[in-house]
Amino acid sequence: MSRGLHPDTAQKIRASIIVIIPLVATLLAIVLLWGSYVFTRDIVILIVMNFFTSIGVTVGYHRLLTHEGFHCPDWFRAILVTLGCMAWEGTPLQWASTHVKHHAHSDEEEDPHTPLHGFWHAHMGWLYQRKNFPDPQVYVPHLVSDPVIRWVDQWALLWMAIALLIPYLAGGWTGLLWGGFVRIFLTTHVTWSVNSVCHTFGKRAFETTDESRNHWVIGLLGFGEGWHNNHHAFPRSAFHGLHWWQFDLSGLLIRLWERTGLVWDVQRVAPEILALQRAQLRSTRESLVMMRSQIATAVMNADVELQRIFSASVDRTLSDGDRARLSSVHHSARQRLSAIRDSVSQRTHVKKAKLLVHAREVHDVVLHAKQQAAALLRSKGLAA
Ligand SMILES: [Zn+2]
Ligand SMILES: [Zn+2]
Repeated sequence: MSRGLHPDTAQKIRASIIVIIPLVATLLAIVLLWGSYVFTRDIVILIVMNFFTSIGVTVGYHRLLTHEGFHCPDWFRAILVTLGCMAWEGTPLQWASTHVKHHAHSDEEEDPHTPLHGFWHAHMGWLYQRKNFPDPQVYVPHLVSDPVIRWVDQWALLWMAIALLIPYLAGGWTGLLWGGFVRIFLTTHVTWSVNSVCHTFGKRAFETTDESRNHWVIGLLGFGEGWHNNHHAFPRSAFHGLHWWQFDLSGLLIRLWERTGLVWDVQRVAPEILALQRAQLRSTRESLVMMRSQIATAVMNADVELQRIFSASVDRTLSDGDRARLSSVHHSARQRLSAIRDSVSQRTHVKKAKLLVHAREVHDVVLHAKQQAAALLRSKGLAA
């Protein structure tokens, strides 16, 4: 498909196919549903196809291939990774290299899908940019030289075709619609939500250097992948749910396979490490709360200081124009302070680095306003 095309254009076409066709098919399926033109059989095909392809992504691509959360025989690895390929989320080498880069630069400039570049960029906008698909030779050279993975990867188009053929054989055209295209819509959007939702909404259980969060809805829909802050805190752990109430279907399957001897070397978070991380989180949280309240006090004092500077200046004999200029300097300084106050008082996570910037800014806002007022008074021959 990409031969002769510019790589950027080829990527835009690939992204459009994965984004638009399943979306249109899902809209069509909803219209048909409205007209009662849907069979229980099609919904069963959808659920079964979603189950196997999602496991291919969460267990095969993510926990096994990218993070080596466990080991298993080659034949089983081939099955898991092939199921991942059938999800229509890219080939194993592509998926793993993008994901390794995500962990290496989470929520930094180089992160392929950070919400710092916008929620929709993190969700699916990133798919349209070739630069977000790093060279597997650089990020996952060990997988490039792995014969099993290379073999699955080079037949990717075949596995993707089979992912459409199976629902067609099982349910005809409506089977293809629901079990093929609606299924792709569902699986891809749930995976993309891990990148968008779980780096924007939800709770942080651990202090990590990124914006990752735990979100129970994505935890449920994404077979455990929504416990994403846990995952960023302990990337190699085969289990993303770390409590009984953090439902992690993928983790349950891995535990079951471990009992039967099918998989081994299953990576877990040691209880003492977990306790240590929790204690660290508590002390970091306490120091962040303290910083927030110090900044809030500084903003309050700065406000009073600004009030004092400007009311003292306005008493002077000034023209209406100069008075208006002074009041606009005052107004914009207060606006900046109020934005800082909002940012500090919001309930979501604010990084320490950002708080430090805010603390400096409060000081700078007052200094700048003071200098502007003094300059204006001086130009009128008045002492500041
Ligand atoms: Zn992440
Ligand atoms: Zn990961």
